[in-house]
Amino acid sequence: MAKRKSNGIQDGLRESTRVTKKAKIVVSEVSETVGEDVEVALAAPAQITAQTTTATKKGKGKAIGPDAIDLSCLPERVSSKWKVGAHVSAAGGVENAVLNAAKIGANAFALFLKSQRKWSSPPLSEASISSFKSRMKELSYSSKHVLPHGSYLINLGNPDAEKREKSYECFLDDLQRCDLLGLELYNFHPGSTVGLVDPSTSMTHIADCINRSHKDTPGSKVVVVLENMSGSGNVIGSDFAHLGEIINQVEDKSRVGVCLDTCHMFAAGYDIRTKEGWNSTVESFDSHVGLKYLRGMHLNDSKTQVGSKKDRHDNIGVGHLSIQSFALILTDPRMQDIPLVLETPSHEGSSKNWDVWIKEIEVLNALSLSPSSGLDSGKERNINGASNMNFDLLTRGIKDVIAAAGGTPGRKKPAKGATKGGRKMVEREQDSEVDSQSE
Ligand SMILES: [Zn+2]
Ligand SMILES: [Zn+2]
Repeated sequence: MAKRKSNGIQDGLRESTRVTKKAKIVVSEVSETVGEDVEVALAAPAQITAQTTTATKKGKGKAIGPDAIDLSCLPERVSSKWKVGAHVSAAGGVENAVLNAAKIGANAFALFLKSQRKWSSPPLSEASISSFKSRMKELSYSSKHVLPHGSYLINLGNPDAEKREKSYECFLDDLQRCDLLGLELYNFHPGSTVGLVDPSTSMTHIADCINRSHKDTPGSKVVVVLENMSGSGNVIGSDFAHLGEIINQVEDKSRVGVCLDTCHMFAAGYDIRTKEGWNSTVESFDSHVGLKYLRGMHLNDSKTQVGSKKDRHDNIGVGHLSIQSFALILTDPRMQDIPLVLETPSHEGSSKNWDVWIKEIEVLNALSLSPSSGLDSGKERNINGASNMNFDLLTRGIKDVIAAAGGTPGRKKPAKGATKGGRKMVEREQDSEVDSQSE
């Protein structure tokens, strides 16, 4: 293993300042992260500098220590039963992800616990762990709305025992990180047959690894959350039946769940653009897996058509799914109280303010707050309120922000000037997340 050089955080910080109505914020862009972990950087959104001792807890007038956050710098978060957020950067330390989520008004978030493209990473520092926990508390995030994403390298379905063991170690390490951070969910891609065995053999390997990880983390409550996939190549999990088959073989069912990615399900052939299509998809999920296993969703529009088997995320409303599909989700009571996480292109290359995610979150929250959402009648739901909203106007709003951020809505290619650690990295990682498993 290559030796770590030095802590490169400082070298990589470029600072600029901007002034909001209430406070001065130092915006830092981490263009290089710690040592060799450059690849993990998704570009750091604005980071608010740590206050010293002057910050106070709401109304209590109590000093909250060196890691305190000036809450007045952060946007007010919308109160909704649907917990919308984004996969935010953890560059510079996992604790920054909490702050980055709050900066974009997210009520839920995802993060990488370590470099998603390396087999081993240095352990979490005590300082990172305690800062992560205190920020979670200070910014009122619940661990059930945080959905960490596992390394892309992990393939628990690999028939090669040695390679599977390597994946397992990386997987177990992720679970232990979740425990250290007080998190309770862990999302990962089920795996791939790598073209060498039939899917059921791989599924058994995956379930065996999950069972083993449960035994290797006694006392832990972390739920391993399988993600549905788009169906490219030899990847397992595009069919809900695959997910059900894996779960059937898991012994401790209290520690397994599923995350549904809208782009992946659409690419896999589940057409969720109409109320009927959404309903029958959820019913299919319920019969093959069980709704009680649903622990989160990835909200992504799709650059490719239904059944394309391609994993190409697009901004909300800009791709083939369109806003109406998301209105169905954001008015469905069955999707309440779980993390609903954007993994859309952030186009932050020029603006650095994550305006696109802020806008997408705003639009999704607006859908969820439409008059007919949140009906108490269990399975009953109605999107009439949401349909009355002007979907075209909402879509145009998102497109405008993308254009203002320097991006081109619907185009795969990033705009000129995208830097390492910026939008390019986000897109590359999303575009290749399936391919990387076929090794
Ligand atoms: Zn994923
Ligand atoms: Zn994807």
